[in-house]
Amino acid sequence: MSRSAHPAGPRHADVLPEGHYSAPPSDLNTLDSKVWAQTVRRDADGVVTVGGIDVKAIAEEFGTPAYVLDEADFRARARAWRTAFGHDADVFYAGKAFLSRAVVRWLDEEGLNLDVCSGGELATALSAGMPADRIAFHGNNKSTEEIRRAVTAGVGRIVLDSFQEIVRVAHIAQELGKRQRVQIRITVGVEAHTHEFIATAHEDQKFGIPLAGGQAAEAVRRALQLDGLELIGIHSHIGSQIFDMSGFEVAAHRVVGLLKDIRDEHGVELPEIDLGGGLGIAYTSDDDPREPHEIAKALTEIVSRECDAAKLRTPRISVEPGRAIVGPTAFTLYEVGTIKPLDGLRTYVSVDGGMSDNIRTALYDAEYSVALVSRASDAEPMLARVVGKHCESGDIVVKDAFLPADLAPGDLLAVPATGAYCRSMASNYNHVLRPPVVAVRDGEARVIVRRETEEDLLRLDVG
Ligand SMILES: *Cc1c(COP(=O)(O)O)cnc(C)c1O
Repeated sequence: MSRSAHPAGPRHADVLPEGHYSAPPSDLNTLDSKVWAQTVRRDADGVVTVGGIDVKAIAEEFGTPAYVLDEADFRARARAWRTAFGHDADVFYAGKAFLSRAVVRWLDEEGLNLDVCSGGELATALSAGMPADRIAFHGNNKSTEEIRRAVTAGVGRIVLDSFQEIVRVAHIAQELGKRQRVQIRITVGVEAHTHEFIATAHEDQKFGIPLAGGQAAEAVRRALQLDGLELIGIHSHIGSQIFDMSGFEVAAHRVVGLLKDIRDEHGVELPEIDLGGGLGIAYTSDDDPREPHEIAKALTEIVSRECDAAKLRTPRISVEPGRAIVGPTAFTLYEVGTIKPLDGLRTYVSVDGGMSDNIRTALYDAEYSVALVSRASDAEPMLARVVGKHCESGDIVVKDAFLPADLAPGDLLAVPATGAYCRSMASNYNHVLRPPVVAVRDGEARVIVRRETEEDLLRLDVG
């Protein structure tokens, strides 16, 4: 393959336009282990490998774009969460981050439980053999049909999200001759330090029942009266991509306050609290996520301290990490297409996917890293923007990144930390086919979710 340099792109720090980047890194070939899956390496010949397989072989066998998922890393992270919280707590993996039958089996084997929030996610979980009593069912607008299926399957808990749902679930459970274990999701008025669209515990939003104004206490009053329900606890989820534990601190304080009020009013000590998910991961070298054991220690201490102060038995804690388990375990592999240097601005590098396989940059202004992975390069850094192939100028995958100036069509790029909320939010915009998820482990690669075909698209189009 012939490689041509692109002399017109801006390269030097003194001519760089404004953007999200810091200075160009000293060596573009180095892969920061913080943002890449555990088994990712750059070989002596410059090609990147994962799970012992080189990315050129993966691209050749499975095509691009593809999500490449490091199974050993997924299992290690799931296990780290499980171990960190021990036997007095439960870890529910948030399936909405990425769910497939292989993932369900890994979770089952590693001893994790599973959160689902739609009939489709429930069907996936059950079809892969996740025991129903280890499934929690979430959502702000569960349909009657979804509730019926969840209760019939015997899910371990349904997280109630509104006054109407309290009555609806109780009614359906009674109809089916069951008593459904439930938690009530409350909003504690904490806004996690994150992007507005992904912060969820402040009160002006669609999820949960506000603690403020006594609404949560009223929800508890009603749930306790209904025969179809067994109220086991209170649920709070304060946001996403959170690095700072202070939000959880305030949330735990308020949830425990409610437990105390419930004890005082009803003489009942609810046995569980769920503090949700939302723990951050490293998308770029600037992010510094905490380890599961630090998070477990902090959360457990906060809850027992608050309970001691309120003279309550410490309830069983559960947490619901999604991104923190699957996010770092996958990267998206793309092939470089057209390269367009814009004088004094940056070089636009087009790849063979885009907003249909990663909507997070367009939706949340998310930041990502990117690297040339099919070879090493000693060329100088060029300021680049990695864009997709869609008919939309907001179709940006990586807003600002440095790539080697000798980048050429046919090179392979990889965007790390795309395991969460990329395949699960993928679309068919422009009738682009959704990429496969390829799991690698110990020198073997297998497709766990296959690439869509034009036949798949046309099958839905019934004319
Ligand atoms: C989205 C969500 C999670 C998972 O969030 P992450 O940021 O992926 O950890 C957990 N619990 C609830 C209720 C959620 O809505």
